[in-house]
Amino acid sequence: MEILKIENLSKVYGKGDTAVKALDNVSFSVKKGEFVAIIGPSGSGKSTLLHLLGGVDQPTNGKVFVDNTDIYALNETQLAIFRRRQIGLIYQFYNLIPILTVEENITLPLLLDEHQVDQKQLSDIVEILNLTNRLTHLPNQLSGGQQQRVSIGRALISNPAIILADEPTGNLDSKNSSEIMDLLKMFNKTFNQTLIVITHDEQIALQADRVIAIEDGKLARDEVIRP
Ligand code: ADP
Ligand code: ADP
Repeated sequence: MEILKIENLSKVYGKGDTAVKALDNVSFSVKKGEFVAIIGPSGSGKSTLLHLLGGVDQPTNGKVFVDNTDIYALNETQLAIFRRRQIGLIYQFYNLIPILTVEENITLPLLLDEHQVDQKQLSDIVEILNLTNRLTHLPNQLSGGQQQRVSIGRALISNPAIILADEPTGNLDSKNSSEIMDLLKMFNKTFNQTLIVITHDEQIALQADRVIAIEDGKLARDEVIRP
């Protein structure tokens, strides 16, 4: 089953002489449960692509379908709800809210939509992430690896269609990096959680089922390495 389809996606930043074509007519589909690595040189358009997949930015041209919903046909309010329910975003620098506890950071996407927190689901996620004894801590009381585990919890709590991670291990040492990748892969394999990871770490790309290379805003390679 296709969970994501993008059609002729283009993004131009700015206008006239200073316009930058960051993404140029990119199309591909992702199956539910796939783990896709997106690679490519700095400035090639990877983050732009990820933001467009996550409904964070508006494309100049083209469409994004998530679970058959044409996300840029939604209005602002619908798109905000869509993002919180269907997209789990993980960033290099965690993007946690400093004045909220670990538990509040994790459950925030639900609270914003006034959804009940499923306590069983929360405690299961927190236990897998080894954060059970950290729930009342603030982000600055945690190590980098722990902060990234909190952001994984926040990404997973609404059972999203897709997890999008932008260099999720870019700020971590090798031990913490493999811990984070092992957790992401565990959720991918055990719970069939679709996972798209931007990386310039070849060792991480080689762990994916499929590698998509972006160069100069264009799809340069799309290779299934683990059918
Ligand atoms: P990558 O993630 O592969 O490093 P990006 O998607 O961040 O690439 O950037 C692609 C191109 O778009 C680059 O030339 C970058 O300078 C440009 N770009 C990215 N964001 C903006 C923006 N908000 N305004 C103008 N240009 C941008
Ligand atoms: P890791 O092995 O995950 O990198 P660290 O060696 O950074 O962990 O931290 C060891 C322990 O110290 C962690 O359990 C963490 O909760 C705690 N810790 C790390 N940084 C801080 C901090 N700034 N304030 C309070 N506790 C911290």
